[in-house]
Amino acid sequence: MRNTFPRLFGNAEITKRLSSLIISSSLPHAMIIVGPEGSGKHTLALETVSALNCENRLSESFPLPCGACSRCKRIASGAFPDVSYLKREVGKSTIGVDELRAFREDMFLSATESECKCYIIEDADAMTPAAQNALLKVLEEPPKNVYIILICKEADKLLTTIKSRAQSFSTEIFTADELHRHVLSLSPEARSMAAADPEKLRGILLSSNGIIGKALSHLGGDESDAEALRASVMSIVSVMPKKVSFSALYSAVAALPQKRDELRRTLELLVTALRDMLTYKVSGEFTPSFFTSLEACEGALTGLGARRIVSIFEVINSALADLDKNVLIAPLLTDIALKIREA
Ligand SMILES: [Zn+2]
Repeated sequence: MRNTFPRLFGNAEITKRLSSLIISSSLPHAMIIVGPEGSGKHTLALETVSALNCENRLSESFPLPCGACSRCKRIASGAFPDVSYLKREVGKSTIGVDELRAFREDMFLSATESECKCYIIEDADAMTPAAQNALLKVLEEPPKNVYIILICKEADKLLTTIKSRAQSFSTEIFTADELHRHVLSLSPEARSMAAADPEKLRGILLSSNGIIGKALSHLGGDESDAEALRASVMSIVSVMPKKVSFSALYSAVAALPQKRDELRRTLELLVTALRDMLTYKVSGEFTPSFFTSLEACEGALTGLGARRIVSIFEVINSALADLDKNVLIAPLLTDIALKIREA
């Protein structure tokens, strides 16, 4: 049997589905890849377009995609002329109709090198309704040999008419066990740490939010980064009880990372910690994604009720959405502190 998608880990079901669609040449012209941050949406899209364009795609003796031919390599580096990308511009919260129209016109030109043309729209859920309607026109009658992949976190923001003309694939982040298994198979550092200090490895994997790239980068040297991230999260958790003074709460929030990406990672990890706490508080079950022990989770819950955790959860999720809209960091942090106080 043909070895397909050798570089994909996790998301086994949809990888299998895509493999059979590609091998039987029945891949739909429009696909939606939907899933949370870090669940492999971009990798899946890139591997799919590589499989469509790979120079060795017809030879059974190569994996599909081969990853070694000129086209595969150029797709991986974003430099293949017949694979185009559209993403939200920095500083903008939406993808507008003009950007979409320019993209659409290109779809009717012939391919430069390949037999097909592929279009990847990142942040597809940021397309305005007008942009989506412009896209709809091509989805209704897609030009021959054109493949359009929409990547998004929330398919609900896509028009029903778009969703009905595309096949959906939902990606999921790794469970703690899957991440552990894949990281051990990929990283010699992880294997030696598993033998020498399994608790440390566990802490690093939990800080990675189920995202293999983050786990490997933490293992590749910036372990202190993973520890700093967990410490930032715990500093916020410790000031969440109502009885803590506003000045202590404000100082902890103001000390969060000022760089957008780092702040995003910290808040995402905080959401994970809150989820652990809420699950334990409500159901008595401990299914750790952040805390390395039940005692640590119980300690974090001191002085906190379920309702307050839910409210803070909402505050942090809405801050994450604001971060995506490129709001300024300092006012956002003040806003978080004020909203946690009111929560
Ligand atoms: Zn190839």
